[in-house]
Amino acid sequence: MKAIVVGGGLAGLGAAYRLHKNGWEVTVLEADEEVGGRAKMIERNGYSIPTGATQVSTGYHDYIALCKELGVDDDFVAGSNMVSLIRDGKLYEIDGTKPLTVALTGALSLRSKYLIARSMMEMRAMEPKLSPLDMSANHAVDDGRTAKDFAMERMNQQSYDVLVDPLMRACTLNRGDAVSALEWFSALSTLGGVKFITLRGGVQRLSHLLAAKVDTRVNARVTDVKRTTGGVEVNFTQDGVPQSLTADACVLATRLPEAVEMSEEMAEVAKPLASRIEYNRGFLVHLGYSVKPKTRSVGVMVPTVENPYIALIWLEHNKGEDDITPPGHGLFTVYFDEAALDDVKSGSDEEYGKIAADYLEKLYPELKGHQDMMAVSRWNLAIPHPTPGHYRAVNEMKGRIDPAGPIQLAGDYFTTTGQNSAIHWGQRAADNIIKHIGRRNAPAESLAELKA
Ligand SMILES: Cc1cc2nc3c(=O)[nH]c(=O)nc-3n(C[C@H](O)[C@H](O)[C@H](O)COP(=O)(O)OP(=O)(O)OC[C@H]3O[C@@H](n4cnc5c(N)ncnc54)[C@H](O)[C@@H]3O)c2cc1C
Repeated sequence: MKAIVVGGGLAGLGAAYRLHKNGWEVTVLEADEEVGGRAKMIERNGYSIPTGATQVSTGYHDYIALCKELGVDDDFVAGSNMVSLIRDGKLYEIDGTKPLTVALTGALSLRSKYLIARSMMEMRAMEPKLSPLDMSANHAVDDGRTAKDFAMERMNQQSYDVLVDPLMRACTLNRGDAVSALEWFSALSTLGGVKFITLRGGVQRLSHLLAAKVDTRVNARVTDVKRTTGGVEVNFTQDGVPQSLTADACVLATRLPEAVEMSEEMAEVAKPLASRIEYNRGFLVHLGYSVKPKTRSVGVMVPTVENPYIALIWLEHNKGEDDITPPGHGLFTVYFDEAALDDVKSGSDEEYGKIAADYLEKLYPELKGHQDMMAVSRWNLAIPHPTPGHYRAVNEMKGRIDPAGPIQLAGDYFTTTGQNSAIHWGQRAADNIIKHIGRRNAPAESLAELKA
């Protein structure tokens, strides 16, 4: 049995490895010159820099299980779980993975703490039980309200400014008044009861390990995927040369706009979501300093009222890996807010770099005069933007997918974005193919083996 996987990100490689383990001959076609998709690294002046995804947690069960299958689960390192909130320019540290410790912070009044705790209890009581792997199962909560509408109804202005809005910006790179109310619960369920961890070697390592297990072709851009009588035909250009492959099945593991562009059939299936999905752009400034501030925080969640441009700062040197910076140095990723990107006049790397460094050094004045590295990463389609109604559309799309079809969709747009969701939905696409296409076409003796 042969399968083609389009896209060498974690969804595609997760699908490819699952198919390979089940005896399929798999070819991964990746348009870029290397695998990893939105979980990639670059090296600059002695710093190992994640250019997209950065954080993993103990709640990433599919990610961790895959690392176990590959024999690298001993390579996880624990990092700090502390994150900083900001109120009136002042930083307050909380344990970001224990939402109930919000009750201890000086950043919020007693009333705000009570209202936030009540909202967390509401989440626990939700039916069906919330899962970050399938947020659209709770699409009823996605009733047209934004996270801000919800916070103003059920909490108060301070809760919104200090916690809800910055959390939404951290998860989506957009503001609380632009995302679905369900995203608030998604963030709580993603963070609650987990610890931050990192796979030694960085976020691209898992993709490299997976790609080494299957036939992976880079610089191979797929243009067209269609169903044939025997399975599928995939047309692509490799290093500019047009080519074609046939197989029993295919997984389209790209971002949704790219998937519907290459397959008319999937454009029709995914219409409820594809016709409305928006992506936030990702604009990241990476800053290296020859000193580290004293804080244990791994992240600073920035409220819009504190800084309309900067949504989040990640302190990469506090993730637990000791070899990602020159000794004693600090590495920071400053994420810009989608809503403010067009306000940066020249749009040059230097202008973004200055805005990022000025704010970082305002929060941590001891960094001033010690910057020794600046790099910029830009993503046009960074993260699905969960506007109100987004999860309803995801749910509608899911209902139209034929699990027995030879072309399956995979990617992080099926639920809350993240590396774990990408792997989960990649493996799910592979499982559909193994179950339906594999069994239908398998020779009698392998069917007996499957049954056994
Ligand atoms: C700035 C940023 C920060 C993030 N932070 C985190 C984080 O801290 N933690 C976390 O868990 N997640 C984070 N994420 C999300 C995470 O990166 C994604 O959810 C995950 O990597 C998506 O994997 P994927 O395989 O679905 O898609 P992708 O990684 O986008 O993979 C799709 C692949 O398809 C390829 N492709 C596209 N078109 C074609 C074509 N025509 N032919 C062949 N190949 C094609 C692309 O080149 C790409 O390699 C972040 C993302 C961004 C952008």
